[in-house]
Amino acid sequence: MSTASDIDTLAVHAGRLAVPTNVASSPPLFQASSYEFDDLDDVEAIYAGRRAGAIYGRYGGPNATQFEDALAALEGAEASVGAASGMAAIDAALEPHLEPGAGIVATREIYGGTYALLKHDYMGRGTPVTYVDQHDLAAVEAALARTGATTLYVEALTNPLVHVADLPGLARIAHAAGALLVVDATFATPYGIRPVEHGADLVVHSVGKYLGGHGDVGAGVLSGRANLIARSRAALVRRGATMPHFEAWLALRGVRTLALRMTRIAANARIIARALAERPEVSLVHHPSLPAHPQHALAARLYPEGTGGIVAFRLRGGRPVVDRFLRGLERIAIVHSLGEVATTISYPVVSSHRPMRTVECEALGITDETLRISTGIEAPDDLIADLERAFASLA
Ligand code: PLP
Repeated sequence: MSTASDIDTLAVHAGRLAVPTNVASSPPLFQASSYEFDDLDDVEAIYAGRRAGAIYGRYGGPNATQFEDALAALEGAEASVGAASGMAAIDAALEPHLEPGAGIVATREIYGGTYALLKHDYMGRGTPVTYVDQHDLAAVEAALARTGATTLYVEALTNPLVHVADLPGLARIAHAAGALLVVDATFATPYGIRPVEHGADLVVHSVGKYLGGHGDVGAGVLSGRANLIARSRAALVRRGATMPHFEAWLALRGVRTLALRMTRIAANARIIARALAERPEVSLVHHPSLPAHPQHALAARLYPEGTGGIVAFRLRGGRPVVDRFLRGLERIAIVHSLGEVATTISYPVVSSHRPMRTVECEALGITDETLRISTGIEAPDDLIADLERAFASLA
């Protein structure tokens, strides 16, 4: 007969460690925050990386490792490290690699959150940040020479106007100046481009977009040479900004269908871009598949599989017309993120570019008429029908 203390102990220890000896056909979720060691030699071996093993949640775990290994393979990179968000990944790609006193040259076409990070946490604390037109290679070269910056930060496909960075050209210029090239490739995905193959030193993604793909993940990742990733990883661990287990598990499940989703998403984007270009209510469509796009030829060369699912356009009439148009949509929802299986729409001046002043947005061509569509995997005819419904509601 069990005594009360037996039950106390059994409740804590009975039924532990049902580890199967054959491999699970899909990744199990390891929702554990700490791991056991055999002895002190084991502690030293695992901390030093001589033996594979997990230590503690914030240091990573089996699900983060699986996701990181998958991403490194997809990127053609030596290593990857997961982060708590895209912003945490961007910060870990920048700050740990800055020499004291050194600055950053960054694309002026930049996601609003990154703009806010650079403004408050870098420029605000004494790190010089110089903005350039990333498509003007001579200007980038001059800015690096003038400032002595040790990091060049660009977006592979810009948010929201889908301008295309000349990554091989930018890598050449950065390396000639002794700077690291850091690329935000969130819009492009490794299905669209593998920036490391074009000379990038570090590549970052907001994982909640196309990699996760289902609008249910908040995480980031950065990839590159093993020594750079080790330094970024150490910073993420110190700051408590590593990737949580469940997010890593969800993200890897999303990655499994990346190629299938991106093929359909890119096809839908091309169809929608063509349809929008024919509408009299639309004054301009931004999509690299259109011959009028400023980097049409570069996109065809760098992105043989297409540039993903972002299409931006200008609706004549500004905010009041935009408001009526958005109310007229029935299937396409107003969502401030992107890269989900459902097609969504956003109004950048109140969402992704909210941290920028109107005058700065206008200078970039992001106006109160600009809308951004993120195509999903639906049947294209249904999407076109929804857009036509919204155009009809303007009459
Ligand atoms: N980079 C780009 C291009 C983005 O669009 C976003 C978010 O929308 C981020 C980075 C930041 O990612 P997160 O929201 O996961 O921190």
